[in-house]
Amino acid sequence: MEQAVSASGLAHVRAEIARACKDAGRDPATVTLVAVSKTFPAEAIAPVIAAGQRVFGENRVQEAKAKWPPLMERHPGIELHLIGPLQSNKAKEAVALFDAIHSVDRASLCEALGKEIRKQGRSPTLFVQVNTGAEPQKAGVLPQDADAFLTACRDSYGLTISGLMCIPPVDEAPGPHFALLATIARRNGLQLLSMGMSADFASAIAMGATHVRVGSAIFGGRH
Ligand SMILES: *Cc1c(COP(=O)(O)O)cnc(C)c1O
Repeated sequence: MEQAVSASGLAHVRAEIARACKDAGRDPATVTLVAVSKTFPAEAIAPVIAAGQRVFGENRVQEAKAKWPPLMERHPGIELHLIGPLQSNKAKEAVALFDAIHSVDRASLCEALGKEIRKQGRSPTLFVQVNTGAEPQKAGVLPQDADAFLTACRDSYGLTISGLMCIPPVDEAPGPHFALLATIARRNGLQLLSMGMSADFASAIAMGATHVRVGSAIFGGRH
């Protein structure tokens, strides 16, 4: 049963992405679907891989480390993205395992990542998370601090930042948050925008998302 849900969920999400791209006059190849498999076991992920999906998102280093290496061994070409908060003391494991990290948001983490990237000779694609709604409980740099933070990433920590990520407040229309993220990216010369989840990825695509992070619309509800 669960397998049927995830494969048909994937097909539905792909169709919706294609439609949103068409509406926005965008080439679907410019939008990467990050299938968020957090909390789901390998048995639920396998049919999604079988249906051709190769880019997956996890929000915890330990969970990803336990789940993905065997799957990656069996299925070449898997790309793994860390979308959740990262503790500096896990930077080493994160740089070793992930192809992209969407949650760069503070100096101590930049320092740890810079060190590991140089040491391991691996360079995950990096996104700075922006707390567009300035929510106290949420990770990310504040919008007004983003430009200075991006400069520090480059000049003080030697990091190449490729894009920005945001998670809009649950109780607000996401559009203005997506627009703000796009504006900050544009004025800093960043190409990638990680924005849009199950409920709002179509509107994120309309506003320029290059990476949509979609979990429940593919895998079903999380418990
Ligand atoms: C869980 C999660 C998602 C996916 O959320 P859905 O609503 O299930 O699509 C996207 N981004 C982040 C950062 C998440 O933690």
